[in-house]
Amino acid sequence: MANLAIVVHGGAGAWDIESERMQVGLAACREAALAGHAVLKAGGSALDAVETAVHILEDCPALDAGRGSYLNTQGEVEMDALIMDGRSLNMGAVAAIQRVRHPISLARRVMTDTEHAFLVGPGAGAFADQIGFPRCATEDLIVPPEANGSAPAKPLAGPLGDTVGAVAFDIHGDLAAATSTGGTRNKMPGRVGDSPLVGSGGYADNWTAAVSATGQGEAIMKVVLSKRVCDLVSDGLSAQAACEAAIRLLEERVGGECGLIAIDAQGQVGVARNTRAMPYAFVMGEDEGGMVDGR
Ligand code: ASP
Repeated sequence: MANLAIVVHGGAGAWDIESERMQVGLAACREAALAGHAVLKAGGSALDAVETAVHILEDCPALDAGRGSYLNTQGEVEMDALIMDGRSLNMGAVAAIQRVRHPISLARRVMTDTEHAFLVGPGAGAFADQIGFPRCATEDLIVPPEANGSAPAKPLAGPLGDTVGAVAFDIHGDLAAATSTGGTRNKMPGRVGDSPLVGSGGYADNWTAAVSATGQGEAIMKVVLSKRVCDLVSDGLSAQAACEAAIRLLEERVGGECGLIAIDAQGQVGVARNTRAMPYAFVMGEDEGGMVDGR
């Protein structure tokens, strides 16, 4: 049993494994895992750790969240995010939010500062303004197409983005999950994927596991993929076996491509995908020197 753990991912998209963008995404994952780990090691909460980690991933131009988000068919950026506290099952989510650098932090404010759990579109923007949450220009979120892999010349393998996510287990035994995305490339305005949907793009429950999903949102939401992982852990599977079983279930039931990261209530880590690649990094235990990364 690990006394603390953090796992992050940079999206199970149509990655070119040898690309410079993959190196940038992987470096951001390492940095995010270490930053989240530092929070945990200092005695901070799993919730603070996942928010800290996702901030770094949202700032990375190579990843489809915050800065670097894909554009919709109108050339606009609409982002979705979910954060969940495994101790209380409290959650906060935003969808189709525009002009914020860190949607994950706005999702957390929905959780802590409102009586609601999920705000969308103009209402989410109005809430941001009401609480003085930092707004930015849309241009601040847009990067050159080659930076986030959205250049038209790139072959695309299905409707995938490079959503980011983090799950953590703190020294108090609490779990948390966070997922943030710009959604899929050239999506319809108003399209919301799995990422902000509780149980689909993420879930956290101290009784079972914390999970963040990435991949084809329209498939993931049909099988409520992240909650499936928790249910499989509840059935006795390890976090790793549960991630693998949930992906098989997605394939068999609806078809589709996805990636999953998870930590169970013993602090054990799971990472799985059926896509070409998914940059990730994790640390189990206090020694950050033991960080593992991969793609
Ligand atoms: N799941 C995200 C969405 O459908 C995209 C991704 O993870 O690649 O919006």
